[in-house]
Amino acid sequence: MPARILDGKLFAAAVQRRAADAAAAFAAHTGRAPCLAVVLVGDNPASRSYVTAKGRACTACGIEPRQLDLPADASKDAILAVVRGLNADGAVDGILVQLPLPEPAWEEEVIEAIDPAKDVDGFHPVNAGRLLLGLPALTPCTPVGIVHLLAAAGIPTAGVHAVVIGRSRIVGRPLSVLLSQRGVDATTTLCHTKTRDLAAFTREADIVVVAAGRPHTLRAGMIKEGATVIDVGVNRVPDQSRPKGYRLVGDADYDELLGTAGAITPVPGGVGPLTIAELMANTVEAARRRAGC
Ligand code: NAP
Repeated sequence: MPARILDGKLFAAAVQRRAADAAAAFAAHTGRAPCLAVVLVGDNPASRSYVTAKGRACTACGIEPRQLDLPADASKDAILAVVRGLNADGAVDGILVQLPLPEPAWEEEVIEAIDPAKDVDGFHPVNAGRLLLGLPALTPCTPVGIVHLLAAAGIPTAGVHAVVIGRSRIVGRPLSVLLSQRGVDATTTLCHTKTRDLAAFTREADIVVVAAGRPHTLRAGMIKEGATVIDVGVNRVPDQSRPKGYRLVGDADYDELLGTAGAITPVPGGVGPLTIAELMANTVEAARRRAGC
């Protein structure tokens, strides 16, 4: 039987509707809309399109978007000054600095400068630490979106074996923590480039999440019959038949896995929309906590 296709847009729409309802309730209570400030440094086209999509989602949810554009040659001090200004601005509930920065070595310091209460990406060490300890935290959007997707799709996680490929701080590592938390209760294995015999792990898994950033990481023969495949990867591959000269593919060989998987997310239209929807949810949550409502 062909796999069930997990339509991320559908699940994301439900998350976004709930965020919009919560934003309306917040506005009724406080007299103002929640506000998300997005800092974009430079003119990376992919970053700009992500920022545009986030602004659109804000407007759709009744969240006030604020975009701050800095030139590609902005100094670290200039970026930090903008972040500190947003920290001090009582009307701003969420702050997101779009990554990567033109100077990736500055990312750590810039993220740490964000007020953890406004850190809607959930990347600040305070939020990462609270997540690890199982305390309430602003949680990275892609991992939390995946956990919510599994729940909404009725895919059991308790007691199942989940294999996560990729140990980045924004996807794989926090996801492995979330999947193993009480209430989600998966037995989790975190794989990376030094994992010996990746296929030996993935073939044992009930759920495989692939977040490697490399096409063909998960191939035919690497999963067991009926496994759920969540493909986080977004890779541009040259394709002259497309107007932009490229197409987007995930990290999994989607067509080859369709016959074996029980359920699978497509790329595009799988995990991507969930990430933005969860950002909206985090923004409203940050606003509510700050306002104590
Ligand atoms: P990253 O920081 O580059 O991390 C990639 C991870 O994958 C690393 O831990 C790396 O291992 C591991 N890896 C790479 N190739 C592997 C292989 N062949 N076998 C096993 N492990 C392998 O990437 P990221 O930021 O997590 O992003 C991953 C992908 O997800 C990218 O395509 C990105 O664009 C996409 N993404 C999508 C969304 C969305 O909303 N859809 C959000 C975030 C990211 P080592 O640590 O050993 O190097």
